[in-house]
Amino acid sequence: MDEPLPPGLYVVATPIGNLGDLSPRAADILRRADRVLAEDKRVSAKLLKHAGAATPMTAYHDHSSEAERDAVVARLGSAAIALVSDAGTPLISDPGFKLVRAARAAGHAVFTVPGPCAAIAALAISGLATDRFLFVGFLPPKAKARADAIAEVAAVRATLVLYESGPRLAESLAALAEGLGHREAAVARELTKLHEECVAGTLGELAARYAAAPPRGEIVIVVGPPPEQSEASDAELDAALDEALARLSPSRAAAEVAERLGVARKRAYARALQRA
Ligand code: SAM
Repeated sequence: MDEPLPPGLYVVATPIGNLGDLSPRAADILRRADRVLAEDKRVSAKLLKHAGAATPMTAYHDHSSEAERDAVVARLGSAAIALVSDAGTPLISDPGFKLVRAARAAGHAVFTVPGPCAAIAALAISGLATDRFLFVGFLPPKAKARADAIAEVAAVRATLVLYESGPRLAESLAALAEGLGHREAAVARELTKLHEECVAGTLGELAARYAAAPPRGEIVIVVGPPPEQSEASDAELDAALDEALARLSPSRAAAEVAERLGVARKRAYARALQRA
């Protein structure tokens, strides 16, 4: 008979597509916990079956009521409770933050059982700088809010990691190209699954590629940091725009020059309109 687990909250990472990625320790905790809190009990039932666990489950969300959260926290002094989300690491664009905060505030032990996380998995295979990165999560769906969110991180000197879904990928890549200018990027799709791929290119190239063929599945976008050199001056930008405007419409001229000089398309377009 196994020793009982020390009481507390166990934050357990689970696979993001390949059940083989469930760690032996995670499986052990799921088997020995007194209860598993799951984002979706139907999804986690498959995982528990795979782990050989018959542990009772309760649904948990951060929008679960405060009374439900208080009831969980009240049990943490005497019970081992495991928190899982549908896939990957709980709390990372998934439920758990309010519960972990409440558990810690009440003085209970909070243990980590680390494992898969799509953001880290994508970053590690992207070929982009890993020394400094910012996890941005999901961009807002509406155009204005999305552009504002991108503008907020445009000057950050770090690799950006974003979550996205297939249907919205091309639109988000176009918005990133517009707001961040010429940057190296990668689209990591269906990680650890049969159709895993990681496609590299500039934001502009990737936006064009996925507009032509919207992909299926789960996606992480990784965007390299801004180029080291200082931004092109207004004089450099104007000279390049004047040459391009002789051949192209303001919007095409701005797009071409923005890509070539590595400036935000918005800046190039505003200037192109003034000079057209
Ligand atoms: N907590 C999870 C984690 O640790 O990765 C993330 C949960 S979030 C609700 C789901 C998003 O994660 C998806 O929309 C996608 O952006 C990303 N994701 C999850 N699994 C993935 C996979 N196998 N390949 C690529 N992206 C994935």
